[in-house]
Amino acid sequence: MRLTTKKIEEVIVSILGEEGLLLTKEMKDRENVSEFDFSSKLKKDIKIIRKMLYLLYNNNLVDFTRKKDKEKGWYIYYWTLLPERIRYLYLRNKREQLARLQEKLATEQKELFFACPSKCVRLNFDQGMEFEFHCPECGELVSHIDREEAIRPLQQKIDEIEAELKEFQEEKKVRRKEAKVRKKIVRKKVKAKTKKAKKKKRK
Ligand SMILES: [Zn+2]
Repeated sequence: MRLTTKKIEEVIVSILGEEGLLLTKEMKDRENVSEFDFSSKLKKDIKIIRKMLYLLYNNNLVDFTRKKDKEKGWYIYYWTLLPERIRYLYLRNKREQLARLQEKLATEQKELFFACPSKCVRLNFDQGMEFEFHCPECGELVSHIDREEAIRPLQQKIDEIEAELKEFQEEKKVRRKEAKVRKKIVRKKVKAKTKKAKKKKRK
């Protein structure tokens, strides 16, 4: 799975919101950047910057070093982005998203839903009963919703994520196989070497 900019951004936004993209852009390809540097570059209060950095730290996406400011006597933190964790978080997010969608799909398939013709509300069967199948907002008769409409996009999204995760699993298998082959080659080489050494000894 190639970690495209879009995927990286998806992970950052899931942790920090859109705002976070500006911060991680500043961190990209740089090491040990002072938090005050981010604060002045992004024109944001140091408290906001720190909060974002701590959130990234909680997700193991950044590391820091600190140095004592001799004049002021306090610590200044210097931050570095750890991009290799993004792949893990991306996959974790996708798995969570998949579970949520599957749950939603199961509900859609199980329950009956009713909607107001003016689109004020959507009711499940129990709610429909409660309001005697009339819209609680405008009083119009609600009608049964064709579930296909709700199910199709859900199913589509589920298929997409499943395909993506499967692709990742396949890649993992290939990588494991390659690692095994490499190990075998190394073992053969070691064997050949010890054989040679034994021969030499015998001589
Ligand atoms: Zn209505």
